[in-house]
Amino acid sequence: MTRPVSLLVPLYLGVTLIGASATPRAIVPVAAAADMTTVARPARARWDRRVTRPVRVYIQPGRSVSGWQPDLVDAVWSGFRHWSTEGVPVRFTRVASASDADVVVEWVDGLPGNCIGKTWREDVGFEITTARITLALHDSRGRVLTAEMQRGAALHEIGHLLGLEHVSHRDSIMYPQVWVTDISAGDRNALRELYDSRSGRAAD
Ligand SMILES: [Zn+2]
Repeated sequence: MTRPVSLLVPLYLGVTLIGASATPRAIVPVAAAADMTTVARPARARWDRRVTRPVRVYIQPGRSVSGWQPDLVDAVWSGFRHWSTEGVPVRFTRVASASDADVVVEWVDGLPGNCIGKTWREDVGFEITTARITLALHDSRGRVLTAEMQRGAALHEIGHLLGLEHVSHRDSIMYPQVWVTDISAGDRNALRELYDSRSGRAAD
């Protein structure tokens, strides 16, 4: 059974906030929200040693979704590869069907409210076992999201997929809204800390 838990209050930020961030990559006059839902969600769940047994990812073409383009598949896949982090025993491999996958990525026209991405994650004890990421192609007003915004949303959702939760600083990809479109050093440190064997509960 899934029990959706919304982790954020979506906001629609005005143009007066353009340039408010010191980060040159910051895009976003229109900060859209991303959020996460998990099933049976314990604190700090993670994948269990998935290097020799990589997490299998199926990225489902969104051919029936208005505005979808084939190159989005590679863009999202590059997001998975980009999260690959020294010291974190999780790697990903692509598979050709949902039935072979641990993780399915799909696109939809839009998501409720100002949400532009959603991760459904199933954890068993402290181990993440399966997940689904839904990415929107349009914001709540029906406008096509920019490639940068989609990249930020995908990286954010993959962060949830890896076990990261929201943080309160806007220079992190795990901030509940898309303000930056890349993973920060702090994000990687948070991931290393999550997967540090000394903090392990489910690892052994
Ligand atoms: Zn989120």
